[in-house]
Amino acid sequence: MAFCVAGLAGLLSCRSSHKSTETTVRELPTREAVAKATGATDIRVAVLKDAPAVHIAGGKARRILNAAGRVVQQPSDDAALDIRPAAGGLSLNGAAAGGESSLRIESASADEPLSVNGQQVARVLRIYCAPRSGALNVIAHLDLDEYLLGVLAGEVPFERWHPEALKAQAITSRSYAFNQMRRSSSEAYDVESTVMSQVFKAGYRNNPVLKAAVSATRGLVLTDNGAPFSAYFHSTCGGHTESGAHVFPEQPALRPLSGVPCSFCTQSPAYRWKLTLSKADLERRLKAASPSSPAGPILRVEFLDAAGTPVGAQVRAVQVRIHSSGGPWTMPGNQFRLAIGARDLKSLLFEQVTDTGAALEIAGAGFGHGVGLCQWGSQGMAQAGYSYAQILGKYYPGAELTRMY
Ligand SMILES: [Zn+2]
Repeated sequence: MAFCVAGLAGLLSCRSSHKSTETTVRELPTREAVAKATGATDIRVAVLKDAPAVHIAGGKARRILNAAGRVVQQPSDDAALDIRPAAGGLSLNGAAAGGESSLRIESASADEPLSVNGQQVARVLRIYCAPRSGALNVIAHLDLDEYLLGVLAGEVPFERWHPEALKAQAITSRSYAFNQMRRSSSEAYDVESTVMSQVFKAGYRNNPVLKAAVSATRGLVLTDNGAPFSAYFHSTCGGHTESGAHVFPEQPALRPLSGVPCSFCTQSPAYRWKLTLSKADLERRLKAASPSSPAGPILRVEFLDAAGTPVGAQVRAVQVRIHSSGGPWTMPGNQFRLAIGARDLKSLLFEQVTDTGAALEIAGAGFGHGVGLCQWGSQGMAQAGYSYAQILGKYYPGAELTRMY
């Protein structure tokens, strides 16, 4: 089957003969395709990191296994478990867990998941001592679509989000996760549960609104020439999405992430914003984030495009050159933004930057790195009557939808 996900330019003339604006849904056999492509059918989500202790409860006919898959001595079936790092491994309810530094806990029923610190999370958990901190990491093993319910709950205000925007987010998040699963098979987990990957909130597995969006798009993943790619997304582009190659230069430049104009995110509270940043504060934040940066008070800051030219209005800065009394230095824009604080410096798309001598007065646009789907733009398009396929066709030009399971 084939259907059209033309970008805005092609919407009015969207017919099957228009190959350049058409997206094909390729039917692949089953969810074995996920297993084949990723080496796993479940996604591994770091739901808790560097915790001093973990409280596990719930589950049905619970089993506790060591890294070799052997059942370890365990408290009675329904007893709550208090797990802590201890000398020589983990402790389980105050007793050494047989020298084990990694435990897998399973519930026999997906309908009776295990809870972590009071919150129902997953049927299967892995708990281990983090190599660096010695504290505990908790990894939830979740069915990919079950994981997406928690991502939709974490990423968008789903109670007031349009169903088509929710479907677009479900496919985007599935694509992002799918790509992470392919790339992280040798790592301890596939994704974080924070903005470092996608925000995941436990406790939404039975929400009917979220289930409708996930099941309506079951198995659909964005691909570029048949290959899944990291379908980045962000809150608000502010007028134009950004080239992925500018923000993530270590990754290959892809047409679906090349950047498009957007006039649909004007309802976002972060469509336009202002920030006054004193140079003393700027110096302090940069020092804290990168202690090796040249010392001395900051004299001037230049925001540059990819070619090193100072940006004007409505052009996103890709690099930042800081002139201090210790000398000038340049850093990637994304790194600069994270050093200042991504919630304070909402984006690198500026309408105006005024240097008052003591401070920078910034009038900016949008929220986030600007690559891929604009979430508020997606909601604006859905409210204007566009389908999820049209939304994805706009923000990922040239991408295909491939049914992976
Ligand atoms: Zn936008």
